[in-house]
Formats: sequence, C-alpha cells, structure tokens
Amino acid sequence: MDIQWYPGHMAKARRQVQQNLQMVDVAIELLDARIPASSRNPDINVILKGKPRLVVLNKSDLADASITAAWLNYFARAGYPAVAVDAHHGAGIKKMIALAEQLARPAIKKYMARGRLARLARCMVVGVPNVGKSMLINRLAGKKAARTGNRPGVTRGEQWIKLGGKLELLDTPGILWPKFEDPETAYKLAVTGAIKEQIYNPEEVCEKLVQWLVGKAPDTLAKRYKLSALPEETWEVIERIGVHRGFYLSGGKIDSYKTATFIIKEFREGKLGRCSLETPGNQ
Ligand code: GDP
Repeated sequence: MDIQWYPGHMAKARRQVQQNLQMVDVAIELLDARIPASSRNPDINVILKGKPRLVVLNKSDLADASITAAWLNYFARAGYPAVAVDAHHGAGIKKMIALAEQLARPAIKKYMARGRLARLARCMVVGVPNVGKSMLINRLAGKKAARTGNRPGVTRGEQWIKLGGKLELLDTPGILWPKFEDPETAYKLAVTGAIKEQIYNPEEVCEKLVQWLVGKAPDTLAKRYKLSALPEETWEVIERIGVHRGFYLSGGKIDSYKTATFIIKEFREGKLGRCSLETPGNQ
C-alpha cells in the first residue's frame, strides 16, 4: 500500500470514512498487535466520535502473547472492548464477530423501537495501511473479496459480507493515515512493514531493531544466526549476521544493506520469535 499522505489525502480519507461510518453500527479499529500504539491513527477518537468501537489487535501470531494480553486489558480499562486475532490463520475471529454483534445491539434495539422492522447489524473495518484490513475482510468473506487499492478512505458502491446470522460487514475498509511526527513511531512502522522501503533507510531501521533484539531477545538472535557471543556494538552484531549468511560485496566487505534488509524480513516473518515492540504505558 503506497499512499503519500498529503493534507488533501488525509481530509479526503477522513471524509470518506465518516461517510461510511454513517451506514454502520460498529467500527472495528484494526491495529497491529506488535505496535498497538504506533499503528493507531492519531485522530481516531475524533473520527469515530460516539460510534461503538471494537479494538482488534491483528497479527497476534507475531506478537508476544503476554504483552497482547496486557494490551487487551489496557484497552478494556480505557472503555474499549478489545480482542486479539490472527487474520492469517483465523484465530480469534469468532470471538471478534460475537463482540461486534454485541456492541451493535443497542443501536438495533433503538432502531426497532422506532417501529421499524428488524435489520442486520452492520460494521466496518478501519485502520492505517498494513494492519491487515484486506486479509481480515478476505478471511471473513471466505474468498478474495476485499477490494484493495491505493486510494485512501473507501471506494463507493459498497457490498456487504454476512458474518453469522446477525451481522454484516462492509467489504471495503476505511484506510487512515498513521502517525508521522515521532521518529520512534516511524521506526516501528518501518520495521513492521507499514512504511515502504523507498521511504526509509533499512540500515538505520535494522540498527534500531538489532539494538532492541539484543536487549529483549538476545538468545533468539544468537541461536538463529549461530553467534557464540553477542558483540557489544550493534554494527558488529549485524556484520556477524552478514558473515553467517555469506552476504559479501565483491571486495570481500560485508554487504550491510543486504544484511539489514534480510534481518528486517526475518523479523517481519516471525523468524526471530514472537516480538511485541510496545507495552502499554511504555511506548
Ligand atoms: P491492509 O493494508 O491493512 O489492507 O493490510 P493487508 O491485509 O494487505 O496485510 C498487510 C500484510 O500483513 C500482508 O503481507 C499480510 O499477509 C500480512 N498479515 C495480515 N494479517 C496478518 C496476520 O494476522 N498474521 C500475519 N502473520 N500476517 C498478517
């Protein structure tokens, strides 16, 4: 998803999401379980206003389970029901549907109290690029249904996907912009794949990632790359991984760019273990 978020695009995305929100009873705010704070749209509370909201932590298969549990607790205490899912393999989806349906109930009750016939509850997925909106919608649709594209917001001509007996989902997600200002947030978005390679420097991002891994998961790193003892300097750790993989330039020097890109890829694919980059209250 390559979106350059200029103010005009942000305004358009906001407008489109708000327009689509009028059609639904519940918003599913999709976040990356590894970075629930950094993968939040900065204006989400204003955009969703009073709309009932279910916070969904996706990619839970890649996150540390106990930290995900702490995040669920954190959101629940802040007044937002939350659930962890893995759109890739399907874990947590049933619970997500049940919670969304539950959250929609008051709106349906109110609707029927006005003397109208019962209707299905409706929900939509909103979130920043790369949190897994399309994958979740495709899984729920049971086929390649979600329209993906690089347009912010939601395209028109909506379709609904039935989820169980009482709930349906808008087949196009609301695409919102991420936080940009804070370099720490930008690094987390880059390392998890939410920012495209052309925009960041992989060597810089890898250095931060390796620093973090040395602090939090040194054994994983040592085991994966057969490092007998972890060197003190981050660049040295990266170089040793390059040696282990045989990433040499023609003059015999280590190809640090290739090594950096490789380590980031391994992290994204979960090959360095289940890692959460943020804990509640300590982002
Ligand atoms: P979107 O931009 O929010 O629509 O995100 P996508 O649905 O395109 O997903 C972005 C990337 O994350 C893709 O490479 C997906 O395969 C991957 N992905 C999405 N959900 C999950 C998940 O639950 N687990 C894992 N491991 N990968 C996921």
